[in-house]
Amino acid sequence: MYLIINCHGCGKIIMASTANKTKSCTHCGAKVDLHGARVLARSSTTTEAVAIIQELKQRKSKDSQVTFKKFRV
Ligand SMILES: [Zn+2]
Repeated sequence: MYLIINCHGCGKIIMASTANKTKSCTHCGAKVDLHGARVLARSSTTTEAVAIIQELKQRKSKDSQVTFKKFRV
């Protein structure tokens, strides 16, 4: 299982495996305690977790056209 969490150091969205208790942020290097972290989403696969992170990032963006781009096939 993977958790999609916010880094308390830089506020960016990162993915962490529940096999670990802490996760070093890939952006700022801060050690994030998974139990204290704000969990945005959960996923069973890395592929899905990456897709969720991308979607969350796009949702944050003010450009709404980007948000729906991936749903156009
Ligand atoms: Zn960080």
